[in-house]
Amino acid sequence: MLYDNHGRIINYMRLAVTDRCNLRCFYCMPEEGIQYVQRQELLTYEEMERIVTLGYQLGIRKVRITGGEPFLRKGIMDFLERISQLPELAIHVTTNGTLTYDLVPKLKNLGIKSINLSLDSLDEKRFYEITRRDSFKKVMQTFEQLLAYEIPTKLNAVVMAGKNIDDILPMVALTKELPIGVRFIEEMPFNGKGSNGEAFEWDYRKILDHIKTQYPSIAKIKDPKYSTSLNYQIPDHKGTVGIIAAYSRLFCGSCNRIRLTPQGVLKTCLYDNGVFNIRDLIRAGASNEQVQEALQEALAHRAKDGHEAERKRKNNPVQESMATIGG
Ligand code: SF4
Repeated sequence: MLYDNHGRIINYMRLAVTDRCNLRCFYCMPEEGIQYVQRQELLTYEEMERIVTLGYQLGIRKVRITGGEPFLRKGIMDFLERISQLPELAIHVTTNGTLTYDLVPKLKNLGIKSINLSLDSLDEKRFYEITRRDSFKKVMQTFEQLLAYEIPTKLNAVVMAGKNIDDILPMVALTKELPIGVRFIEEMPFNGKGSNGEAFEWDYRKILDHIKTQYPSIAKIKDPKYSTSLNYQIPDHKGTVGIIAAYSRLFCGSCNRIRLTPQGVLKTCLYDNGVFNIRDLIRAGASNEQVQEALQEALAHRAKDGHEAERKRKNNPVQESMATIGG
């Protein structure tokens, strides 16, 4: 079992398989995109499989495949098939849904535990304004396909002032008939330019208060273990509502996750600046034991929460695009 220096169990790895994305969500990257890392700098599938397996041997039991957009990377389905051989590993995927429709049946067969579908608006025009791409119909088709194949699905929407506030209540309304999780995420400064340290207007309290204007009976329900979201349910609704205080960082006390960037940088907190590069260690010929020791050593010096991790960045404020981290 893996533990950090604060006694928190670490059993969840978020693995970003690429920094490439086919959308340009303005809260994640500039319109012109970002400087993608060179292909040879990206972790190979063999390296990722080795790291996942070494993590599994240490107690990692959940992997979330993220990006950029993971289904943009060729060979991703073969990779998922290979790591799905690890008997107790639960594989989850976060996707923008633009390329996923045809893959849903295979994802179901692979036993993918759940899909987080990034969808910030149910309105085609607002979707375009936020993503700067005309992919709304494709994403909605993927959503319907996920429901049809009964893959546990969560809709993740970043709440942005002046952009998609009109989507909050219609998205909550989906939970009446659909057994899904609709989750609202506080905006974060991982947008390629930062936030000058200013908090974003719509925090978890304001989001909940807004929901209560139409659903005063919404009730707090028990949060799953290690949950990053505060979870609620409206009486007689089949689905649930979650609010992820990602900038307020309320959930660090039970944080059980580590992250790997597309080029193999280990992050023990979303808000840190990376601890060391596992890819370089592997390419320098490190043994499995040496890689596992380096991982345990990194966890022995982990920030207690996201605020401490951000403070430790000193003159290097948070501004990198979320596509370079994997969310
Ligand atoms: S902010 Fe950092 S410590 Fe807090 S939950 Fe996120 S990753 Fe964990």
